Amino acid sequence: MPIATTNPATGQVLKTYDAMSDEQIDAAIERADLAYRQLRDTTIAQRARWLTAAADLLDAERDETARLMTTEMGKTYAAAKAEVTKCATACRFYADKAPEMLADEPADAAAVKATRAYVRYQPIGPVLAVMPWNFPLWQVMRFAAPALMAGNTGLLKHASNVPQTALYLEDVFRRAGFPEGAFTTLLVGSDAVERVLTDPRVRAATLTGSEPAGRSIAAIAGREIKKTVLELGGSDPFVVMPSADLDRAAEVATTARCQNNGQSCIAAKRFIVHTDVFDAFAEKFAARMSALRVGDPMDENTDVGPLASERGRDEVHDQVTDAVDQGATVLCGGEKPAGDGWFYPPTVVTDLRPEMRMWSEEVFGPVAGLYRVASYDEAIEVANGTSFGLGSNAWTTDPAEQERFAVDLDAGNVFVNGMTTSYPELPFGGVKNSGYGRELSALGMREFCNTKTVWIG
Ligand code: NDP
Repeated sequence: MPIATTNPATGQVLKTYDAMSDEQIDAAIERADLAYRQLRDTTIAQRARWLTAAADLLDAERDETARLMTTEMGKTYAAAKAEVTKCATACRFYADKAPEMLADEPADAAAVKATRAYVRYQPIGPVLAVMPWNFPLWQVMRFAAPALMAGNTGLLKHASNVPQTALYLEDVFRRAGFPEGAFTTLLVGSDAVERVLTDPRVRAATLTGSEPAGRSIAAIAGREIKKTVLELGGSDPFVVMPSADLDRAAEVATTARCQNNGQSCIAAKRFIVHTDVFDAFAEKFAARMSALRVGDPMDENTDVGPLASERGRDEVHDQVTDAVDQGATVLCGGEKPAGDGWFYPPTVVTDLRPEMRMWSEEVFGPVAGLYRVASYDEAIEVANGTSFGLGSNAWTTDPAEQERFAVDLDAGNVFVNGMTTSYPELPFGGVKNSGYGRELSALGMREFCNTKTVWIG
């Protein structure tokens, strides 16, 4: 992919960049390594001051930054502003909580025949972050904030369609006061990733993106014996049981499917509805989905902007067409609009069967699949019947059923009567082909720490 800003609302190429040369990449890795040696010797309090300064910059520059993100990948301006604010909040969270997250943990010295024993969390060095375009600031920040607080440095290979957001991130951390090289954007294509990851100075990698990209990075890191954290998307179930508040469920279902123009790894994608309430839910949901306004993402009245790329829109439409050709029913949407920009209407498809692509693939756009089930057990079977296991949602007011969903849904997180979202306070990640490792909370920070056992006799 060319490294370029192309406005998805118009299809117009606005700015292109040359990929960095091998020499430039090498110099960036060298700076990241030197910065690591500097950063690990700074105090947590110093790093917290820099991260808080980054939060202040994000808040002060929210509107211009949001405009940049909307221009590069098409999310609504309102959503982009909320994303900038969320990043500032995460920076403050880690600045505030890092002292306790990184504090030595005393162990039972007598039990291990020591005079003193404890666990210490230390940084490991430069970490490569391969990141996607869908939340171009947040996906990076949820890695960068804990990593920098722990004393690691970051090398960002961002998606090729968000180069200006990628450069902004480097700039924010530099202006906040972090040492030169603490956070560096590598303007490179995915073909340069192997070179960076095999460099001995680079100690680990984190990737958020597609399954093929995850497999490739995990294979390289495996050969190199380097730690990876992978967040690879999902096809989250949204189960609606007879006791659910249907109006609220339909409202949240619409947001959960269409937020970020339908391009979120934790968007609800498969709506699995008990037969007793199926028709009522389907009607409310389709009505809400068709009422969404599709259009210019800068317009405050727009609910759904364009998809980020023409390829992405073609893929979504192919998945819908494949289902329709094999007998699925479209309740709303499903037509590719004419004209400029990569828009796609909110779409609800039902009568899905396992041989259709939509049954097993992730649909990365505002398209919902509706499934009718006759029992709790069948709901769990359909919900768990994909290779993914990232997020999940269950709607029921029955307390016993709520507990059963929490246990039985095979996913990295279960949200009951609410929308799956990420919070700095809670771990985030998946099981099965959605990846491994956790981001956010103390766990996210410790993924890239040397958890060192210290035993003193
Ligand atoms: P990719 O996985 O291709 O892109 C994500 C990042 O990985 C980008 O920085 C990309 O670089 C890089 N990358 C791609 N291939 C490789 C590779 N073989 N080795 C190393 N790095 C690589 O996602 P797409 O943008 O192509 O989207 C495709 C699908 O992925 C979506 O339809 C969706 O299903 C899923 N996805 C999931 C996301 C999530 O949040 N979990 C986010 C984005 C996509 P470059 O841009 O230069 O290709």
